[in-house]
Amino acid sequence: MTLPTYLNHIGGESRPAIGGGWLDSTDPATGRVWARVPDSGPDDVAEAVRAARRAAPEWRSVPPARRAAVLRRWAHAVTGHADDLARIESRDNGRVLRETRGADLPGDAMHIEYNAGLAETVTGDTFDLGGTAAVSTLLEPYGVVGVILPWNAPLAMFFAKVSGALAAGNAVVVKPAEQACCSVLAGWALLEEAGLPPGAVNVVAGTGERAGEALVAHPDVAKVHFTGSTATGRRVIGLSAAGITDLSLELGGKSPCIVFDDADLDAAAAGAAGAVYTGGAGQSCVAASRFVVQDTVFEEFTERVHAHARALRVGAPGAPGTDMGPIAFEEQYRKVLSYLELGPKEGAELLFGGGSGPGALTEPDPGLAGGYWVEPTLFRADDAGLRICQEEIFGPVAVALPFTTEEEAYAIANATEFGLAGGAWTRDLARARRAVAAIDAGTVWINTFRRIHWAVPFGGRGQSGNLPSNGPGALREWLTLKAVWIEPG
Ligand code: NAD
Repeated sequence: MTLPTYLNHIGGESRPAIGGGWLDSTDPATGRVWARVPDSGPDDVAEAVRAARRAAPEWRSVPPARRAAVLRRWAHAVTGHADDLARIESRDNGRVLRETRGADLPGDAMHIEYNAGLAETVTGDTFDLGGTAAVSTLLEPYGVVGVILPWNAPLAMFFAKVSGALAAGNAVVVKPAEQACCSVLAGWALLEEAGLPPGAVNVVAGTGERAGEALVAHPDVAKVHFTGSTATGRRVIGLSAAGITDLSLELGGKSPCIVFDDADLDAAAAGAAGAVYTGGAGQSCVAASRFVVQDTVFEEFTERVHAHARALRVGAPGAPGTDMGPIAFEEQYRKVLSYLELGPKEGAELLFGGGSGPGALTEPDPGLAGGYWVEPTLFRADDAGLRICQEEIFGPVAVALPFTTEEEAYAIANATEFGLAGGAWTRDLARARRAVAAIDAGTVWINTFRRIHWAVPFGGRGQSGNLPSNGPGALREWLTLKAVWIEPG
């Protein structure tokens, strides 16, 4: 049987890697290779950057309203192809169809439309210095920008980042994650249908070491947006130093979910379980991976979370009733398993879960026996310094930490290197306001969790990143500032 083959897109043409190499893409529900993608290297990246450089002046000169019109046609095409794209992504990285088709794709189209609307809002400032000079600032597109994507939500990131970069007038080279990029390679074609000039968006599949590094280090790429792990982000910062390439970083998280004893425990348990066991089986940068729970309700809360976890259907991502799919690929599966082993070794108590392999499926299915399954799992830890409390596991594995006083809760919540998001459950409004002030993160939720919206800024602090995306200022990361002085004479 021949495997589906996805191609790079460079200068408006679809083609394999110049070196002829291929990477296998594995269906994580079966553990079997289901498609192949180009194994691109520096030559392919150089071709893509050349194509983008050629397209950049034309795209930049397109009036913002017309750029917006192209983006709106793109959004329309995305809506029309949502079923196909969602199915490819669910097959490729195991995110359940309920999430890809039910939430991501409709949101993606709206996100593109939102960024289209921003295209005409770019303005500069004027300065009255009291002399004769007219002094102002311009916000200009960078020219060619690079976008490096993770595997956990490839299409959502692709649509969000590329639509922002295009709305601002840039040409783009995208390097999606090698483990799951089929949906992005399939989704690209819709841009051409929408009337984008050839070369304005190029997509090059390949590994981080070969294609990713070549993109960051390329001297004609003025700006790179990187979404991925904090460890890789550090490496990207190092690579960008040679060209002083501008960087936006959206990195990892270990988001605390504080539960006070006055909270609606049912709602808190449902919200917490949903925010770490569903949402890509916990493979989400904003997963509620740490429950920080007042000691007086610790047992009751964790039992309720267990009840929610037990009710989740773990199974085939493409089946309509599935709540939780597999881990996206084997290496990540091994990593999650290593934390399941580590927890008890470093003194954490397993409260529930901990199983993996076919036994983690809700119903036995021989066709899924080779998949990367992990049971929804909860540990209890009394020491926030344990590695399972500090490191991003990126799977359906949470750790619950008890606290006594409110001050302790915030100290535990802030005791990691990350600062992406966090939240608290309480009925006390004054306490809610204190929690908002105390939680050191780019997003704080009260009585809800894991909510992100294209119209609301989103970004990390500390080692979770450096810049907000989304919201009214979303195009700022795609624009560079120029100060202009004009004397009349
Ligand atoms: P990763 O860091 O392994 O890879 C991300 C991308 O970087 C991939 O395309 C990869 O090929 C590329 N890459 C790897 N090494 C590189 C190098 N040396 N130079 C250039 N590029 C390189 O991350 P991942 O495992 O794909 O994604 C999961 C991580 O992403 C998690 O840490 C998650 O929290 C984070 N994430 C963050 C956000 C956010 O908005 N903050 C959103 C989604 C995911």
